[in-house]
Amino acid sequence: MNESNNLCAVCGEGILHPQLGKSAVEYKGQSNELDLHFSLCDVCGSELSDAAQLRTNKRAMVAFKKQVDGLLTGTEVRALREKLGINQAEAAQVFGGGPVAFSKYESNDVTQSEAMDKLLRLAAELPVAFALLAKWAGFEQTTVAGEDWQVVDCASESITKLRTRRHRLRVVSCSTPMER
Ligand SMILES: [Zn+2]
Repeated sequence: MNESNNLCAVCGEGILHPQLGKSAVEYKGQSNELDLHFSLCDVCGSELSDAAQLRTNKRAMVAFKKQVDGLLTGTEVRALREKLGINQAEAAQVFGGGPVAFSKYESNDVTQSEAMDKLLRLAAELPVAFALLAKWAGFEQTTVAGEDWQVVDCASESITKLRTRRHRLRVVSCSTPMER
């Protein structure tokens, strides 16, 4: 960072130095200590946070709230999505929420609704549910957005299954479903 950009806005003389502290927070009766990013002026001692520091602090708080509320944290949403083998744009198409929804969920900029949270858990738990959602989103077709999505008949499997290969989703359907 350029030092001239780090001039203290309070005294106009000192230089701001990035610090990492701790912040005691409470949410719905649960306490936690979160990392607190701020800058300290070496002349007047003012503690200031720039936009990036504020965003980082806010994300930590959102993650804590998600945890207390029993919702998937950003890290957990990312892990779940990667397990399903789809990218963020594809996840938005399958689950809804708007084009940048998953980027925001995963970075803890936004908290997903309880309904979205349950839908994600359901899809991760039940491949058949995910297959249906993917089908509704049009992903059973051969290609979506230039990616290698394929419909593959499986002779040995009796239920609709999803498989991931090289982080790409393949919808593997069966010509003779067991349950109807
Ligand atoms: Zn200062």
